[in-house]
Amino acid sequence: MKGLLQRLVRRLFARSDQASKRAGVISAITLALLASLVPLIYHGLLEGGLILLGNLLLWPCLLAALHRPRWRWPALGLMAALGVNLSASVVSAVYYDSRYGLAFALSSLDTSRSESMAMLFKFPLALIVPLGFFLLALSLGNRFGAGLARARLGGRSGIAFVLWMLMLLAGSWQWGRASVPLAITTLSVSPGWNLATTSHAWWEKERYKALMADDYDFGGVSRSPEVSDDAVFVLIIGESQRRDQLSLYGYSRATTPNLDARRDELVVFDQAIAPAPQTVLAVPMLASLTDPRTFSPRYLDANLISLANQAGYHTEWLSRQGLDITSERTWITAIAQRADVARTIMTDYDDGLLDALDEALAREVEGPRLIVLHLYGSHPPASLQYPDSLRYFLTPDSRSPLTDAYDDSIRFTDQVIEGVFQRLEGRPAGVLYLSDHGLEHDPLSDAYVHGGDRPSQAPYRIPLWLWQTGQAPNPARELTRLRSHADEPFASFDLPYLASDWLGIRFSGDKPCLSPWAVCYQPRGRHPVLDQLGRLNFYEALPSDFLSRPLAPGAEELEEAVEATTELLERPEFMSGQGAKRDGQAPQPDSRVTPSEDSSAFTLSPASLPSETLKD
Ligand SMILES: [Zn+2]
Repeated sequence: MKGLLQRLVRRLFARSDQASKRAGVISAITLALLASLVPLIYHGLLEGGLILLGNLLLWPCLLAALHRPRWRWPALGLMAALGVNLSASVVSAVYYDSRYGLAFALSSLDTSRSESMAMLFKFPLALIVPLGFFLLALSLGNRFGAGLARARLGGRSGIAFVLWMLMLLAGSWQWGRASVPLAITTLSVSPGWNLATTSHAWWEKERYKALMADDYDFGGVSRSPEVSDDAVFVLIIGESQRRDQLSLYGYSRATTPNLDARRDELVVFDQAIAPAPQTVLAVPMLASLTDPRTFSPRYLDANLISLANQAGYHTEWLSRQGLDITSERTWITAIAQRADVARTIMTDYDDGLLDALDEALAREVEGPRLIVLHLYGSHPPASLQYPDSLRYFLTPDSRSPLTDAYDDSIRFTDQVIEGVFQRLEGRPAGVLYLSDHGLEHDPLSDAYVHGGDRPSQAPYRIPLWLWQTGQAPNPARELTRLRSHADEPFASFDLPYLASDWLGIRFSGDKPCLSPWAVCYQPRGRHPVLDQLGRLNFYEALPSDFLSRPLAPGAEELEEAVEATTELLERPEFMSGQGAKRDGQAPQPDSRVTPSEDSSAFTLSPASLPSETLKD
């Protein structure tokens, strides 16, 4: 057995000096195609084609380098790196049906070490793909690379590759965006395309650090005298909660029995819209004065916590999102750190936040309180977000265990929220709740995933409601007027205006008409949203659910090309060999207008934050 394995390994990886040039060329083309397949489908044929061209020039050089002692180790390193690069795209494609983009990169940079291990367990392809690809390349290079080296093809393709990258650099200089470094733009169409996304995310993270050094001065901040010092305002930010699956919103299963029972004490917004389908983009936008059109980390200092601080509030940010607020530096912790008390609650489930809330309420503080509870809610995998003893829909013979677990997690969140209500009753207090974003649900596989590069409306549909009973924390903000707007769309990136109005805060840059309490309030007609790549779109233009999303850009282009060719071949003129004199007769190739059409247009720049202009 052991001997057999050794023979196999030797057969696969032994270096051969006899290989022909032809075998080397075929190996290099195979590897280049394998490496470029996912970008060809998910980035479109043009961008994917540039990546393929780079790979076709690079691989002969790498395979030949294995037979040159000086170049062997650098080539091995590069091959391993290209395997990792590929795996990011394969994982995004297989698990999210999306390309790897800014939000995924930011999320992975923000992921703690224990979370990374959990991710590897959840996405075994992240380990299998780089390892498998590397071993394949090594084996092909050892066996067939010698011919390339002998014919000096390796060196020549290497030089051609360097020239090609220089041409891309010149192209990026000409057509790239000013807001993104040149090297990143070039990398995005190189054989290491995901390195561009990752370094872009890294660059964005680094850039905000200096900008967050100072406190933003809102200017002319005042607090309504009607808000007494014992008032408690609680903002709960939920996680990955799909509005459609709350019985509060008419779902057939009783996922929110406690909220249902308190329906009269709530103002329930029927059509709230998240600004992005990912936490890393959505939470910064709902907690700061930026919106999808102006989003840039440099404006996150103008956030709700700083505003409440300047209005004389005692602020607390209690998070169950796993990252240590005090030491980690992400866009969200940057906002959370502004709070007078910022704590990460390291319990197994969200109910740990209730003890933290008890402590917060018991603290002797000056001024009214704003307490943010950041839940982990229904984050995938939902089955891990609530205790096994509270399984309700999920049973050993569940037919759709993923939906059952997801619904259970919503039911658990409902229970946690009831705990918050009970702690606040008898005080002048209120709760404003919203989920950061929803999720896509694929009814065919029953999978629940974050929205990707071609999101439907589903991950933007979120629950949003306000609760107060008995004594309102701000007597001037009753529920009647708010209720009159509850059936209209509401963009959660306008939350700071709604929340500051609720808190009785005025400031010089305030836009009071964006609060539904204002007489001049008008719901927005269109709702800008970002996708996972940071591209701007409008909610109204998106397909309604997961199955109605368009194909990946490359797959769509390929389908159109096949259709056009088939049609051409089927034309009678073509068949009889006559020139096509009459046109306008044949039906046009499928020209469905899909919402992603303009956003999938090719640009030489990587997915980038949409604009750099300050919100007025
Ligand atoms: Zn989230």
